[in-house]
Amino acid sequence: MIGVMVSNVFAEISYPTIDYRLKELPTFCIVDPENFSTSERRTYTTLAERAVAEWDRALQYSGVEFRENWKMHSKIISSGDNQNDCTITVYFHETVGTEKTPNAIGWFNSNYDPPRILTATENLTDDRIRNILLHEIGHSFGLGHYVTDDPERNRDWITGLKPSPSIMVEISISNTELQYIEDIDVQKIILIYGTKGFLSFSPELHELPLPPTTNPSPPIYPIFPFDNIQIENDVILKKYELTFSKITGQIKESEFAKGHPVIITIEKSDGVYDVHKIIPTKSGYFELPLLFDKNSPTGYYSVTASYLGHVDTSMEFSFLVDFMDNVSKIKESKTTTGFSLMANSIDESNAEIIISGKVFNIIPENIPITVTVMSPMDSLIAIDQINVANDGSFETTMSTAGNLWKYDGTYTIKANYGDIDNDTDIELVDNSVIMPCGSSRVLIHDTCMPYDITSGDVISATINNDDNSIILNIDADDDGVLVISPSTSIQKGIFMVLIDGEQVIDDGGFYSATISGNTVIVGFPGGTEQIEIVGTYVIPEFGTIAAMILAVAIISIVAISAKSRLSIVPRY
Ligand SMILES: [Zn+2]
Repeated sequence: MIGVMVSNVFAEISYPTIDYRLKELPTFCIVDPENFSTSERRTYTTLAERAVAEWDRALQYSGVEFRENWKMHSKIISSGDNQNDCTITVYFHETVGTEKTPNAIGWFNSNYDPPRILTATENLTDDRIRNILLHEIGHSFGLGHYVTDDPERNRDWITGLKPSPSIMVEISISNTELQYIEDIDVQKIILIYGTKGFLSFSPELHELPLPPTTNPSPPIYPIFPFDNIQIENDVILKKYELTFSKITGQIKESEFAKGHPVIITIEKSDGVYDVHKIIPTKSGYFELPLLFDKNSPTGYYSVTASYLGHVDTSMEFSFLVDFMDNVSKIKESKTTTGFSLMANSIDESNAEIIISGKVFNIIPENIPITVTVMSPMDSLIAIDQINVANDGSFETTMSTAGNLWKYDGTYTIKANYGDIDNDTDIELVDNSVIMPCGSSRVLIHDTCMPYDITSGDVISATINNDDNSIILNIDADDDGVLVISPSTSIQKGIFMVLIDGEQVIDDGGFYSATISGNTVIVGFPGGTEQIEIVGTYVIPEFGTIAAMILAVAIISIVAISAKSRLSIVPRY
């Protein structure tokens, strides 16, 4: 059970778009599922061809002015074929669920090149595979999920209890009803692309002979409404107590419009959806309190949010709900979503870095990890292949002494394993590593603390034991917003924020500080050099730490960022 303290005065429909747009008349390449039987292969590829044709018809006959701008094609290809002229590929697998989203039966993933639709087949009738295909193709046009904040109505649509008003109602494993492309879906696509149809976002648009249009409607570009959205921790259930947690977030100053709600959809581990409507504060901050008890479904919960019809798929995240023992067990167990990656230096004088990590799910056939290093000039300066040990661990050493490493700045270490990747940064000055943490992290005491900043960078942090404060040295040319949550083991009782020595108050204006528990949101003016966070306690600072942990992408970070930075973005 999730109990929520949010007033629910009127039902609101949210039909956001995702951050993907077609840039050409699309060709859907249906990849022949060669490991299925001959008749299954024919059935599935035919279903996909028909789904493309169904969308093609729906758009062509919707009354659009220039039908030729809305044409789409499909073709069947073999898995080994060149995909250069494919806009979207369509794959079939028996199951497509992951550990975190075991109920997934379809995906659209724009991180692949070309973007990929993945459809499950196991225990699914042809009609249901057709539903999934129509829905995932809808995502490939840029459509998000059609939801209402009336949880009951939403559930009825998703489970098929009531006819769904849109093909983009979230697809669920329990819905056995036939779903259709609805007028609202077609209209939404027309609204996204405008009269130039699928050519609207084409980079070569100006070279195309365009039909004269009397009343062009401009395409809508994707807007990313959120600065951040997160949950503090995984949720540990207790037998005799409720567990309180909350999702917090911040709407970008530029996108904020007073009085409009944020719609947050939580898919619980049992496949049931909860939709919540929250009115943000006047500074665009919002929080959704959540209560859990011993009967709350255990497992991963996925969170998506939209604001004024806009979503940012890179902000989607999951969190784990379980009893203590299980949480640690699950954390240790293999996941299919990635691997950890670290870049360490043994000590400061040694111009050598150790790149290491651990794969959660080993691919058979001894596939190595490929590591590449990009210099601050964005050129490839090193490549290495590392064998993965039986326990999933891998490690290699690289010297930073060579000529290719002579530039000061950020070096990005990318690792690729199968079709997943991960990356981490190190900072070099005079061939030696200087910054202890990767990008968007700052070393506070002995911890690499993540932060979020809209313009500028946090260069370093020092602990001021006299004032129980943390001083963040920042480099910002423009106005920006900083969000940081120092861990409570380092600082407690935060009550005041200073910008360049002057206290900032929460007056709702841009240059203000919002303090919520240990989370601090500060709007600062361009040119700011120091932000000081004052609390009632700060950990005593004792010298530099012996072992320098340089840039750590730890397991929990991988888990949370897996959907955006790794490869899997669920769209089911
Ligand atoms: Zn979907």
